Amino acid sequence: MAWDSIIGQARVKQLLQRAIERRSVAHAYLFFGPEGVGKDALAIEFAKTLQCRETGTEACGVCPSCARTNDLVHPDIRVIMALPVGKGEDPGDDPLEKLPEEAVEQVRAQLRAKGRDPYQEIEIPKANFIKINSVRDLKREASLSPVEGRYKVFLILNAEDMNAEASNALLKTLEEPLPNAVLLLTSAYRERLSQTVLSRVQQIECSPLSDDEVSEALRIRDDVAEGEAATIALMADGSYRRARQLIGTDVAGERAEVVQFLRLVLGAKTLELSAELERLAAKEKGHVESWLGVLASWLRDAMFLHSGVEVPDHRRDEPMVTFVKRFPGGRLPEALEAVQRSIADLRKNVYLPLVLTTLAFSLRSLIASPTRST
Ligand SMILES: [Zn+2]
Repeated sequence: MAWDSIIGQARVKQLLQRAIERRSVAHAYLFFGPEGVGKDALAIEFAKTLQCRETGTEACGVCPSCARTNDLVHPDIRVIMALPVGKGEDPGDDPLEKLPEEAVEQVRAQLRAKGRDPYQEIEIPKANFIKINSVRDLKREASLSPVEGRYKVFLILNAEDMNAEASNALLKTLEEPLPNAVLLLTSAYRERLSQTVLSRVQQIECSPLSDDEVSEALRIRDDVAEGEAATIALMADGSYRRARQLIGTDVAGERAEVVQFLRLVLGAKTLELSAELERLAAKEKGHVESWLGVLASWLRDAMFLHSGVEVPDHRRDEPMVTFVKRFPGGRLPEALEAVQRSIADLRKNVYLPLVLTTLAFSLRSLIASPTRST
């Protein structure tokens, strides 16, 4: 177990183990790369190894320190993430202090679940950004000695969620590193972090997983049958999280739905389009997110096809070939970004009908009437 519990990412694991072995652990790291490739899992395992009583390059998994990390309740491992703002929360308050008991309980439960399954996304309603009070709390904590571990580790999950205030406050901590503090940031949107923050962290790129890695993980961890696992892996774009969303779904059917949606968006059928948007908006958020993932994946393949890159047969359907021929000037990379932005907005609980309508209009203007002057 230990590092083996993380799917793929051999190069990163080796780099982190070497840092421990050579006692050259940096003050701050940023794990960046696409969603669902194991950035959080790597950061948590690294934190666990740093704190393990066995002091090797591999966490033992059973000592009291590892046991507490497994539930993410270690007193010397703080998790910083987006949280709701409490009623009457003042600067300097403990980030959880003014939240209702129920919300605090939810945060704790989500952390425990994340510890047990680091590939799971933390979902807390109304948690739209990382608050400055969370970063202030970090600074306060970082100045204290570890309670029982050798380090004070701070995991900043989805670091791009820091608002400007929080990011500025963090910068001060990064500028004056404390002897025992290690900051581990993770982000799928590195470009949203400030340049000054980026210049003060050691950046570790986490690549998409291979189809084999995804497929094996599905078989072993999620009991998916071999055939289905292989099919899903081909569609998951190297993301284990994405792959898990696809378990049990009708991938071919979802792709057909996506094609139908694009037809309505790009055609002049306003009535049908608004009916379709209404139908989508009535779905559960998780479904829409998964559907947007399929749309992103389809557009990415179309983009490759458009630029003359080989797309494997099982990912290239007839409508895609027609689409690429019909919209030779389509700005597909930007269209893909628009879809990814919608996924991010959805996670931030932006009003679903608004997300979908905005997306439809962006896609129409980027693909069907792409003037480059704008
Ligand atoms: Zn241990």
